[in-house]
Amino acid sequence: MADDCLFCTLVRDGDHVRAADGFVAIKDIAPQADTHLLVLPERHVPSFREVGEFPPDEAQRMLEFVADTAREAGLEDYRVVVNVGEGAGQTVFHLHWHVLGGVAA
Ligand code: AMP
Ligand code: ZN
Repeated sequence: MADDCLFCTLVRDGDHVRAADGFVAIKDIAPQADTHLLVLPERHVPSFREVGEFPPDEAQRMLEFVADTAREAGLEDYRVVVNVGEGAGQTVFHLHWHVLGGVAA
C-alpha cells in the first residue's frame, strides 16, 4: 500500500466490478472502448517492469483474474493492454491491466 497512490485507494474503497483473491476490477473513468475495465492487484508495484515482485502463484492468479474478468464481462474477443512507463502512456504508477472489448478496442 502506497500512501499517495490512486489505485491503492481504489483497491480499498473503489466501486469494484469484481473482486477476489487479491485483485479487483473497476470501470475505467475514461473508456476507450465499449467495455473498458482495469484490473488492479492489491499488491502495489509501480509497473509491469516489477512483475517479478509477485510470487509465482500470485502472478498466475493475476493472469487468470484478467481472463475471468473479460469472460464475466461477456467478452469473447478483446484486448489486454499494459502501458509500461511514461513514454508508453502509463499515467498511474500502480501496475494495472486494461481489458478492452467492442468498438474501438
Ligand atoms: P495508464 O495510462 O495505462 O496508466 O492507465 C490509467 C487509466 O486509469 C486511464 O485509462 C484512466 O482513464 C484511468 N483512471 C484514472 N483515474 C481513474 C479513476 N479514478 N477511476 C477509474 N479509472 C481511472
Ligand atoms: Zn498503489
